[in-house]
Amino acid sequence: MADGPAFSPEEELDAHLAMMAWFDSRRNEGQELTTFGELERGFFWHGHQIPLISRNQGIWKPRFLAAALTFKTTARKIGQEAPYEDRIDEDGTLRYKMAATRDKEWTNRAMLLAAERGYPLAWLVGTKPANTLYYYARFPAFITGVDDENREFLVTIGGDPDQPIDLSDIRERAAEGIERKYVSRWTKQRLHQQKFREDVLSAYSISCAICDLPHAQLIEAAHIVDDANDAGVPMVANGMALCRIHHTAYDKHLLGIDESRRIHVAERARRLEEVSGKRALVTFVGRTLTHVPERRALQPDGQRLRWHFERFIDLNERNVPSTTHP
Ligand SMILES: [Zn+2]
Repeated sequence: MADGPAFSPEEELDAHLAMMAWFDSRRNEGQELTTFGELERGFFWHGHQIPLISRNQGIWKPRFLAAALTFKTTARKIGQEAPYEDRIDEDGTLRYKMAATRDKEWTNRAMLLAAERGYPLAWLVGTKPANTLYYYARFPAFITGVDDENREFLVTIGGDPDQPIDLSDIRERAAEGIERKYVSRWTKQRLHQQKFREDVLSAYSISCAICDLPHAQLIEAAHIVDDANDAGVPMVANGMALCRIHHTAYDKHLLGIDESRRIHVAERARRLEEVSGKRALVTFVGRTLTHVPERRALQPDGQRLRWHFERFIDLNERNVPSTTHP
């Protein structure tokens, strides 16, 4: 293959859309996390292998494409807060630092070209639970401007992470150039929710704090104080990584966790399991959480645990007929 870019702008747009489709299908299959190796292999597009990451620089494009495809944020260590929080503006715009050295100037040019052409990119956010480096992909990411003074690209993440992406929509937008009303759909709040999930999962090494289940596809970031409440802030100390079953059981007060992290099961659930002979939740009665983050600031906050546990107690006392009390 020739050394320089070999495709027309329209063909390159197609490569970007193929990348969107690749990330989207992975996400739909529950493969939210991608390893470095998987990104390095990338995907095939009309017979070309398209790698999606490079060890050597933050902004990436393969040689035969002219515009940037992806840009990454360095991995954080286990239990560390994401390093990019302060780079997200009030309106949800990400400020991504330009490459600072001369030999990486071509990557800045590749970003500017992607901006000019309105290409959808992917922002790769590194995370390192359990000593393996993974990346979350945020997409479609559009470069909406440049802050020359601070040497930053302004990036907005479009789309709704819970919905399949609409490729024809993105194609249209790219053809029209950048369209702010589209890219502002993913608000700062959404980005914070996503970050909460990533931080909690990372702090708990992507396994359920109650049963230790390790499947990322089944692990969720549970709020201790729910986010409808003022104290329900999206910080790790107000969360726990729980599998889907235990998350729901905790939210519905079938299962409670007291301030000393001991597990309780609602009387009605215990009796149901007794009658049916199936032991599911009851197995955990009296146990404590299997693991919490090492750093104290990230451990579940006692006051918040108590707040949630008081609701568990209230609800269960209301529901237990008085005759069952000795
Ligand atoms: Zn579980």
